[in-house]
Amino acid sequence: MELYKIEEILAGEPSYRLRQVERALYRDLVDSWRNVTNLPVSLREKLEEEVPVNFNFDSLTSLKSDSIKAIIELNDGLKIESVLMQHMDGRNTVCVSSQIGCPLGCKFCSTGKIGFIRNLSYHEIAEQVLFFSYYLKKTGKSVTNIVFMGMGEPFLNYGNVIKAIRIFNDAEKFNIGARRISVSTAGIPAGLKKLSDEKLQVNLAISLNAPNDRIRREIMPIDFKYPIEEVIGLVRSYIKKTGRRVMFEYVMLRDLNDSDVLAEQLVKLLKGILCFVNLIPYNGRESNLKPSTRERIKRFKEIIREGGITVTERFRFGDDINASCGQLVYRENTGSGKHHKF
Ligand code: SAH
Ligand code: SF4
Repeated sequence: MELYKIEEILAGEPSYRLRQVERALYRDLVDSWRNVTNLPVSLREKLEEEVPVNFNFDSLTSLKSDSIKAIIELNDGLKIESVLMQHMDGRNTVCVSSQIGCPLGCKFCSTGKIGFIRNLSYHEIAEQVLFFSYYLKKTGKSVTNIVFMGMGEPFLNYGNVIKAIRIFNDAEKFNIGARRISVSTAGIPAGLKKLSDEKLQVNLAISLNAPNDRIRREIMPIDFKYPIEEVIGLVRSYIKKTGRRVMFEYVMLRDLNDSDVLAEQLVKLLKGILCFVNLIPYNGRESNLKPSTRERIKRFKEIIREGGITVTERFRFGDDINASCGQLVYRENTGSGKHHKF
């Protein structure tokens, strides 16, 4: 949908009109503008003509059907991928992208490989959740959680990411609690500082992936610019300001960052910080990187737990459709874009 047009169409109207229109779309998920009876007929017709409620996408369903990947075509013909993960406990989490590609080039990440193409607008970020909201509506369900763990580095597109979060959070729009929204970053100081002052109760996740700069630099080139100490320092002040617990993500790479010694270093690094560690099984296909073995992950986990730090392990979703984190890529426009209406 060309959501940006809504604001253009309503530019000359009183401000309550925009609120009515956004409420009809984001909260009520109307099927057609013609059904929004509190709007003047002429406006309904105009919206119907210029911003019809339908989505330009190709979708792929996971074989296990626990996750669904949508390939959404944007205005300029570029395509982005978003994933819906349907958890056993009833949560429906959308993994959104904030950029097309990513400039940070982490070695284990497919998005990093394609480089940076462009930032997404807040409308394009919101559309990913809108798409799955309509999808779930058919079965009486709704999106309950959002994670910024798709393509891109959210803090390099800060303004649009925060605007999108406010749309998700707004009780008149998606009405998704801030505590159900998570932002994952490779650790961009400017973004960490700004988020500390936003007064938003969102969850912050830091992609750490190694407890020292030597190893982190091998897999995350951004560490040359912003070393661990600087990132951790900012995380500490974020916690001081917000009182929120932070998650450290750690992709488990065989013989690279998964030894006992490194687990001990990690414990030392994070001691006293209000946080938990989330171990992520590596799911990429780089020839020089391998996933850690089950036994290794188990032992690594034990050391962290024995060190007094809470540790979890991410359940692998959607491996069969390349829908796991770090697996989202930009696709060439194949010209197959179809208009779909739910
Ligand atoms: N740019 C942000 C958010 C997107 S990446 C960030 O880096 O945090 C989201 C998560 O996916 C990160 O924690 C990243 O470490 C992880 N990830 C990337 N590639 C992966 C892969 N091949 N296997 C497992 N996790 C991966
Ligand atoms: Fe970018 Fe995150 Fe992938 Fe690194 S892991 S390349 S920061 S999307």
